[in-house]
Amino acid sequence: MAGGMPRGCESCLRGAKLVLFVTGECESACYYCPLSERRKGLNVVYANEVPVETDLDIILEGRAIDAEGTGITGGDPLIRLPRTLKFIKLLKGFFGPDHHIHLYTNGRRASRQALSKLKAAGLDEIRFHPARRDWGRLAEAKALGMYAGAEVPAIPGGAVEVEGFIRYLASVKADFININQLEFCPQNAFQLRQRGFRVMGGSMAAAEGSEEAAMEVVRWAEAEGIGFPVHYCPSSVKDAVQTRGRLARRAANAARPWEERLEDGTVGKFVVGLPGATGRPAKCILAKAVGADASQVGVADDGRGVEVPRRLVDAVRIAFPDATVSYVQAYPTAARDKFAEFPC
Ligand code: SF4
Repeated sequence: MAGGMPRGCESCLRGAKLVLFVTGECESACYYCPLSERRKGLNVVYANEVPVETDLDIILEGRAIDAEGTGITGGDPLIRLPRTLKFIKLLKGFFGPDHHIHLYTNGRRASRQALSKLKAAGLDEIRFHPARRDWGRLAEAKALGMYAGAEVPAIPGGAVEVEGFIRYLASVKADFININQLEFCPQNAFQLRQRGFRVMGGSMAAAEGSEEAAMEVVRWAEAEGIGFPVHYCPSSVKDAVQTRGRLARRAANAARPWEERLEDGTVGKFVVGLPGATGRPAKCILAKAVGADASQVGVADDGRGVEVPRRLVDAVRIAFPDATVSYVQAYPTAARDKFAEFPC
């Protein structure tokens, strides 16, 4: 990194930022676009992984992770400008003026009027990922007094192109550029392979040569004395720090009474299968047999097993010698997506 870190990254790195996906619609066609089929091109809203139907869904998810700020993303959020403005006002109104909000856009629709509205609504930071013809949108944002920078992927072999962009950013007094490690995902793997890119050895998804390109740019920026932060964000930081931090914050608020919070941000619990009983009847039978309060055990998400805390497992085994018991590790998401299951 040259020259510090963009403000929007600070709480993001602690997993303290809500990711508000405003729409999957976008007028760019980036070959490395990572959007999934459930989102790409679709008029859908998600708060982290939670589908949003009402404003309350956003507030509840923000509360669930004790959000210190929000990153508004898409698609291009400016395609749904009224919605984006409404969400900015909602978040500032509920979480207070210190709730830091940054927004990503390809800049295509970032007219002076749109930028003025975003600023007036309370947006703290705007990050452009523009095609060359839209570079001027960033100058417009700066002219309006916004905290504005850029975010681009590090394309293997693409350092010189980013350096040219940074020279432009310096000329309009931009505030930062964030360079992300390029990653393979199911949605872009074909396109990346077609261009000769490969997954880096020892990595699940990072593209070979991406980190080298990013570091070349960072070193160049230092040597050139570029006067704003040129920050490199490796995918390992996103996975290991940001995502884990967000999960841990969610687990702290959303763990059920029978779930234990694990160090990696997931939750663990024992799931009991009672012969001949499922769902609520199974839960009532089990709670009664081991003398537990019904609020201390739960029906498993698939409706079949009964979830119990570690302290009840011995009593369950004595009361139900034929029961199956497994240990399930799950993400503390609303749907409790399963991470791992071990018979025990
Ligand atoms: S601007 Fe973003 S959302 Fe749009 S195509 Fe490019 S990567 Fe995908």
